[in-house]
Amino acid sequence: MHHITLQGEDTPIAVGKIVCLARNYVAHAEELGNEVPSDPVLFIKPATSIIKDSEAVVIPDYSDDCHHEVELAVLIGKTASKVTAEDAMNYVSGYGIAIDMTLRDTQAMLKEKGYPWELAKGFDTSCPLSNFVPADQIKDPHDLAIRLQVNDEVRQDANTGLMIRRIPETIAAITRAFTLEPGDLILTGTPAGVGRVVAGDRMFTEIEGIGTLTVNVK
Ligand code: MG
Repeated sequence: MHHITLQGEDTPIAVGKIVCLARNYVAHAEELGNEVPSDPVLFIKPATSIIKDSEAVVIPDYSDDCHHEVELAVLIGKTASKVTAEDAMNYVSGYGIAIDMTLRDTQAMLKEKGYPWELAKGFDTSCPLSNFVPADQIKDPHDLAIRLQVNDEVRQDANTGLMIRRIPETIAAITRAFTLEPGDLILTGTPAGVGRVVAGDRMFTEIEGIGTLTVNVK
């Protein structure tokens, strides 16, 4: 099993599935030439993709274009099925930082063929995660500075307020199809500024109120 740590709890939490949103910030959808979807575009990363602070992303040998996407991660605290947006925040137990590492060349090839994205999004080490903070420590998850720097260069510098689909609507949309269980995570999409990393790079990320996450690239 792959675990995360929630601040203030002694027992690590086993992660089940990681449900991710694509195209949830207008400026990012536009930078990739994608239209902003009226329904959420979802995909799932396996828990085996998780790495922790100070560990390394290993770019698979079938890709030459690995991109960073910093995202607010939402931790689910209790079983959620077909919940309404009004009730959805009662199922959130924490927040963390994630980097949705993406093989852009592989994804482009898969998209062109109409195939699923897992080879581009779910490879080992493709989900660096920070420690999580309890939900009650974050007053407004839709008003947090979110940043990613590669070596000395700031690449992504935005605010979670720019999300198109907010967390309650996202949970409602996901749970129409998938039951969310304690330890499942939602990655809420990335703001603009995604870009390539190569072996030897170091990524520094920060989300206001949550902390930092630093990982290397191999
Ligand atoms: Mg993403």
